Amino acid sequence: MPRMPPAPRTWPLNWLKAFCEPVNRQDLIPLAQSCGAHRAALVTISQDVAFDPVFRDICASNACGQYGACHMCPPDVGNIHELIAQASQYDTGLLYQSVGQLEDSFDIEGMLLAARLQNDIAVRIREQLQHLPGLLHLSTGGCRICERCTRPQSLPCISPEMALSSLEAYGIDVYKTALKAGLKYHHGENTVTYFGMVFFKEYHLA
Ligand code: SF4
Repeated sequence: MPRMPPAPRTWPLNWLKAFCEPVNRQDLIPLAQSCGAHRAALVTISQDVAFDPVFRDICASNACGQYGACHMCPPDVGNIHELIAQASQYDTGLLYQSVGQLEDSFDIEGMLLAARLQNDIAVRIREQLQHLPGLLHLSTGGCRICERCTRPQSLPCISPEMALSSLEAYGIDVYKTALKAGLKYHHGENTVTYFGMVFFKEYHLA
């Protein structure tokens, strides 16, 4: 069996509060933009994030080809209800987006490039927040940390600490959530918009 990436750490709350140097809320949106995000917004997880287990069925239809082909995608990533419960425990989300330009709506290469750029933004944001233990960070589609995921060879995840799952895999309705956050879901013809979100608990933020 492939070795799964670890779930966000479940260290004792007292320990986390004592050793966590919080980040200012007002610094989060500029931080995301300095990492390359087009726009970003703060959301309250309990009020603004739309969860729906039906997204697991959409993943299972395998339109993206990642179902069962990535450690961080369904079904390997975990039970949808458990993942929704896990994400729901957080308090605040930094929802960010990137916008890629396409030659036309069949520009697969352009979509892949845009997805790669979204991954680069996610990695930069994570680097900026790496001093905060216990965050959850989700991006778009399958994990793109490696050139090729090892899942199809039934080999362990190469970099469990770096691996990124997606908002969709955690049952998040990105369209509704973006609407609540005041972020555009579409940016016009021949563009593709990708989203990511960092989940914070109260003790992470000042
Ligand atoms: S880090 Fe690499 S091996 Fe692990 S899930 Fe991501 S792409 Fe796959």
